[in-house]
Amino acid sequence: SQNHYDAIVIGAGASGLYCALTAGRRGRRVLVLDHANKAGKKILMSGGGRCNFTNYFVEPEHFIGSNAHFCKSALSRYPSWEFIGMVEQHKIPYHEREHGQLFCDDSAQDILTMLLDECAAVGVQVRLNTHIEQVKTFENNEKSRFELITSKQLSKKEKQERKENGNQSKLPQTSYRCESLVVATGGLSIPTLGASGFGYDLAQQFGHTLVTTDASLVPFTFTDKTGELIRTLAGISLPVIASNERISFKLPLLFTHRGLSGPAMLQLSNYWHVGETITINLLPDIDMTALLLAHKKSHPRQLIRTVLADNTDNALPKKLLAALQTHLWDDIKDTELANIKDERLIELGATLNGWQLKPSGTEGYRTAEVTRGGIKTDEVSSKTMQSKHQDGLYFIGEVLDVTGWLGGYNFQWAWASGFVCGEVV
Ligand code: FAD
Repeated sequence: SQNHYDAIVIGAGASGLYCALTAGRRGRRVLVLDHANKAGKKILMSGGGRCNFTNYFVEPEHFIGSNAHFCKSALSRYPSWEFIGMVEQHKIPYHEREHGQLFCDDSAQDILTMLLDECAAVGVQVRLNTHIEQVKTFENNEKSRFELITSKQLSKKEKQERKENGNQSKLPQTSYRCESLVVATGGLSIPTLGASGFGYDLAQQFGHTLVTTDASLVPFTFTDKTGELIRTLAGISLPVIASNERISFKLPLLFTHRGLSGPAMLQLSNYWHVGETITINLLPDIDMTALLLAHKKSHPRQLIRTVLADNTDNALPKKLLAALQTHLWDDIKDTELANIKDERLIELGATLNGWQLKPSGTEGYRTAEVTRGGIKTDEVSSKTMQSKHQDGLYFIGEVLDVTGWLGGYNFQWAWASGFVCGEVV
């Protein structure tokens, strides 16, 4: 019938569109449903509007998840040059930035247009503004295993109007049947872009386990005195080494009115849990303890503030040094090195090379680039993304417990998982 498809993909985002065009190329009849009024909103917002669509260097180490091996198969079957090839075929101008990150020269719209054109070319239908009310299964009917009951997704305005008019009538429903059902509804980050917990709920309906979700690739916030200090430094940026027991990143740090951001912090946030301390080496290229102890011997009459100012001149913004001084060693700033105990110099050096901070939290899903955690990957096939609990049901993209680093890795995961799934649905 009209409303029967080989595969229905829920979510017209990065992974859903890629899966759909892959299945469509195989001659499959594919329908993509999305509750939003526009496809690929996150793609359009990504990379500051230029979409960091992949990375030259993709390794499993760039991904986290409770099963570190899960991402390997899809990533090796769909390397980044496959996507780059498609971008080049569509003559989309792009460039490389540091660490192998690839961005559009002009606009993220180029990537979305490419995906939608490829979908259209193979007859994939995309239906927006669609609310999925219910998903039913028919086990004895393999070719038509799923039924989706849908209605029109009302806008806020339409909902309000219905309320004002006292209209409680049921919205007309449309039902679709399909052989394969692909869940590509993404994570919880940025609710205003259409994020919802739909995928997690549906997974649970079929007996799947969820790994606790959290906002990730997200700035840190601070409430205590440190928070006050950080706010006074808003706008300052410098290269640091940010680390914890698990990982370290040598990248820029950015002070903001809300806390600490910049690539160094976003990357570290993937590996951070509430209550943990982070360490920031503000002077990655100077061993400050050794320097201070050496100067105490060679220039005992120098004031500590002079030594610090002279020796961190190129590396540490003056305003930052002054603020740290006020905060951390105000009592000795005008003291001669000879009169400062070695232990204090060692402590001061250790602070500059390893400032210990305890974030109170993160900015949360409002600004997070991704959601860490999600559908447990042990219950999904790493080769096809098919559920191990329900035949014909697939999960791809960010809804799974696979989270990439900053740098185009989350899109690469979306393309790769979408591809391997699109090859079989
Ligand atoms: P999405 O692309 O989020 O698509 C999910 C789709 O499902 C959406 O269209 C949504 O409307 C739809 N949906 C949700 N719930 C329902 C429902 N109940 N019913 C119907 N449809 C539903 N990654 C990079 O690699 N590089 C970047 O430069 C980058 N920049 C980013 C910038 C921002 C501001 C954000 C928020 C993220 C960025 N990311 C970036 C991450 C990347 O966008 C995501 O990891 C990626 O889009 C995930 O793809 P997905 O297909 O799993 O989900």
